[in-house]
Amino acid sequence: MSTQIEALATLQQVDQSLRSKTLAVAEGEGRVAALEEAVKGQSEAASKARDEVAGLTARQNELEVKLGAAESKTKDRRMRITRIRNDKELGLAKREMEILKDEASTLETELVGVMEQAETAGAKADGLEAELARLTAERDRESAELKGKVGRLGGEIERERASRTELAQTIEEDLRRRYEMIFSRRGGLAVVEARGGICQGCRMHVPPQLFNEIQRNLDRVFICPSCQRILYFRVEAAQANG
Ligand SMILES: [Zn+2]
Repeated sequence: MSTQIEALATLQQVDQSLRSKTLAVAEGEGRVAALEEAVKGQSEAASKARDEVAGLTARQNELEVKLGAAESKTKDRRMRITRIRNDKELGLAKREMEILKDEASTLETELVGVMEQAETAGAKADGLEAELARLTAERDRESAELKGKVGRLGGEIERERASRTELAQTIEEDLRRRYEMIFSRRGGLAVVEARGGICQGCRMHVPPQLFNEIQRNLDRVFICPSCQRILYFRVEAAQANG
């Protein structure tokens, strides 16, 4: 028959395991969410860059069509000009040719600029997409791993919660409540050994009188005067240590 304090120490082991597993689950889920977020951000950036490329390509096509039209118009005027005999008409036609030439030259200048921009934007989009592919592969691989781990931990947590419930029932309610309060306030360490007269929770010396009491009354609850944790004494540990 184990003492209440021993049962508490066992409960504490289960609680510590639950605590670290619950933290690991939250950490795993947080990492999965961060990976998703990174892929989403990269995907948005890549698609924005691809839209920019599409816009520039559309402008490039538009300019090419306009330039083509201006060039064929010029060709047409050049053929007509040979048939003009009237000086005034010839002057007008030459003027029109010049305007067409200027137009074609403006279009060409813009076209060259747009082609350069499209090339730069295309390279940027390629880079962003390559990074997106890398992030997606990383997310897929790491997420699968993490989800497996989270699932496994979830199963363990469920089993440990069930055994905790059973174990908790063997401990007097007031004591259990007191233990739970200390556990949450003292960083998951509520029941500690008073080994060799030293509290293993805060490493302070327990007053000798109190240490004697602890050793004589293994089933009574003693509180460390320094850290307010529940103290217990392990006979086997003391014997093993000589
Ligand atoms: Zn202490």
